[in-house]
Amino acid sequence: MLYRKMPKNGDELSILGFGCMRLPEKEDGLIDEERATKQVRYAIDNGINYVDTAWPYHMGQSEPFVGRALSDGYREKVKLATKLPSWLIEKREDMDKFLNAQLGKLRTDHIDYYLVHALVGELWDNVFGLGVAEFLDQAKADGRIMNAGFSFHGSSEDFNRIVDAYDWDFCQIQYNFLDEKNQAGTAGLEYAASKGLGVVIMEPLRGGNLTKTVPQAVKEIWDEALVNRTPAEWAFRWVWNHPEVTVVLSGMNDEAHIRQNLKVAGQAYPHSLKDAELSLVKRVEQKYRELMKVACTGCQYCMPCPSGVNIPLCFEHYNNLTLADNPSGEKFMYAARLGGAVALGQPEFASLCVQCGQCAEKCPQHIDIPGVLESVVEELEGPDFEQRVTMAKQAFKQI
Ligand code: SF4
Ligand code: SF4
Repeated sequence: MLYRKMPKNGDELSILGFGCMRLPEKEDGLIDEERATKQVRYAIDNGINYVDTAWPYHMGQSEPFVGRALSDGYREKVKLATKLPSWLIEKREDMDKFLNAQLGKLRTDHIDYYLVHALVGELWDNVFGLGVAEFLDQAKADGRIMNAGFSFHGSSEDFNRIVDAYDWDFCQIQYNFLDEKNQAGTAGLEYAASKGLGVVIMEPLRGGNLTKTVPQAVKEIWDEALVNRTPAEWAFRWVWNHPEVTVVLSGMNDEAHIRQNLKVAGQAYPHSLKDAELSLVKRVEQKYRELMKVACTGCQYCMPCPSGVNIPLCFEHYNNLTLADNPSGEKFMYAARLGGAVALGQPEFASLCVQCGQCAEKCPQHIDIPGVLESVVEELEGPDFEQRVTMAKQAFKQI
């Protein structure tokens, strides 16, 4: 296992972190505790020292599971990360209520890395107005949390604004070779690092979509490589190639994948990919873009939409449909993220579009945005959309 230093406190963190959002489940949908505990402990025994969970993962069951899995001396071997569910905060007292409940669920007296979860610009404005800066200062001062950070899913501009608004220790962003310009992107990664923040990466495999069903045309490019690597290994190595990256989270639930990821995490130094290898990844990225339904890079130039449509996020989920082996899972995530379950209750889905056309002229990719949004409605909304939104809201409010 390789380790990288958290810039502000010098913690030596394993470059691979164990994400506890996709743990193995039994047929009844509950976490398979015996198997998942073995997996988490095996990963820790083999060098992982960063474990990440959050309030809503596994319908609220991930945190109590992690608390149990880290008993028998494992808690002391890791830095533990969890997150304040920012979309559920209505007043300052709620922040203490959630943190104190999380300490109980996780059976610990402190959280090493505490994040304000899933920020976008408006959510940040809301929690900032309710006193989250003072809350984080207080929680650090009284020892309930050691380091304060945020995880992020908004635009590049909002990312820089949030980085500058508080004395953060670290942040967590979505990053992979298809998301260089999406959300925080490469510019955000470099900006955060330039401000001395450690950067934890989520979705290095884009929710597994870069590995589950690899299109033949992409496979043919990977097969040209001089070294034989799986698509997952290429994707991980590409992220770790960036020296600004501290930890890469992987939501692992398969023993073979855990062993494989641990092996790669023992070899992936910054700047270790050769120019020819980076060119190969670039070609794979371009091929994916050709194969995707819409050539959106996530640049946000089309935003804001006066009707409230989150255009790049609609297109991200639409494109994921091309890659996903589980379309119903993707439809659920579309309902969760765009139906208002995690963004101050504000719906942002495609059918809010009134076809005014003002976004299309701003798109550097010349995408017929209103036209493509009609297809998004067709494929990702449909008659059971409201039901999925309700289910997602319940899932994200689960205590
Ligand atoms: S065409 Fe639709 S998505 Fe574009 S700005 Fe108008 S309402 Fe928003
Ligand atoms: S639709 Fe066009 S302008 Fe909007 S985020 Fe995508 S590429 Fe950028």
